[in-house]
Amino acid sequence: ESQLSPVAEPEEREDEATLRPKRLSEFVGQPRVREQLDLVLQGATRRGSPPDHVLLSGPPGLGKTSLAMIIAAELGRPIRITSGPALERAGDLAAMLSNLVDGEVMFIDEIHRIARPAEEMLYLAMEDFRVDVVVGKGPGATSIPLEIAPFTLVGATTRSGALTGPLRDRFGFTAHMEFYEPHELERVLRRSAVILGVDLHEDGAEEIAGRSRGTPRIANRLLRRVRDYAEVRADGAVTREVAQAALKVYDVDELGLDRLDRAVLGALVKSFGGGPVGVSTLAVAVGEESTTVEEVCEPFLVRAGMLARTPRGRVATAAAWTHLGLPAPIEAFG
Ligand code: ATP
Repeated sequence: ESQLSPVAEPEEREDEATLRPKRLSEFVGQPRVREQLDLVLQGATRRGSPPDHVLLSGPPGLGKTSLAMIIAAELGRPIRITSGPALERAGDLAAMLSNLVDGEVMFIDEIHRIARPAEEMLYLAMEDFRVDVVVGKGPGATSIPLEIAPFTLVGATTRSGALTGPLRDRFGFTAHMEFYEPHELERVLRRSAVILGVDLHEDGAEEIAGRSRGTPRIANRLLRRVRDYAEVRADGAVTREVAQAALKVYDVDELGLDRLDRAVLGALVKSFGGGPVGVSTLAVAVGEESTTVEEVCEPFLVRAGMLARTPRGRVATAAAWTHLGLPAPIEAFG
């Protein structure tokens, strides 16, 4: 099990709603995306028509859902939220689309997982604000075009490459979300601390930010863990010492690696001489599912410069050996 998955845990949802930035001006970081989106929204508001459809692309936990809600708030319009996997039947989508009110924002999370018939219905809806409703079955079936209210579709995806060309082309604007810099995460943390009433010291924020893997969701999660520790074992103040002690309990090291990450690196280095080794072999060695190793550990280990994916398998870099306190062999990658 991983402490640091960027995907939300079910019990986290409620806290997330409280911590969500509500307006663009409250949204920390992502300066490029913020500026671009601000222009798109202001342009549309001046013209008095809904803005282009927006695609938000990037890893989990960087604020795509928050941004979708902000778009609706900035436009002063309601938002309707659904997800690709929930739109299995085109009929469900048709019902949603025909109930939209003028200028409404429709948010489809994980849009790359939408079923084909629903996707095709979306083409016409996005382009002409129309749906074709099929009435009857078999040879007698007819399709009746139905006008729908002009709306803005906001799609979110962790894998924009998995979108079909025709769907991607119908978004007028794509925002690429980047991992956050430590100083940006410090601002996220300070904001969250105010909302949660946590006495977060500057050095405490710095310590947590450095271990949050560039991801606001993880920063907020670690803040809650550290708050517990601060209240139970200290006087409530989150200082650097308290943050360090708390994160030791939760096995999150100074670079933001957790127990599973270190197990993966440890196996790679100690059992396989630094690789190359296949990901499924590596997963068996640490007793985890391949998908967890591949989707939760590896993206971060690659980004942290400790693991490389090569055609022949996974390889530990010199930084990985060093991080584990071992001398790197001369041939170590990187
Ligand atoms: P997923 O697709 O996995 O749901 P997401 O990219 O939609 O992830 P959000 O749910 O929007 O991410 O954000 C996760 C949490 O991180 C939210 O609770 C929010 O408080 C916080 N957060 C994200 N981005 C920011 C930001 N730029 N400023 C402040 N808080 C943020």
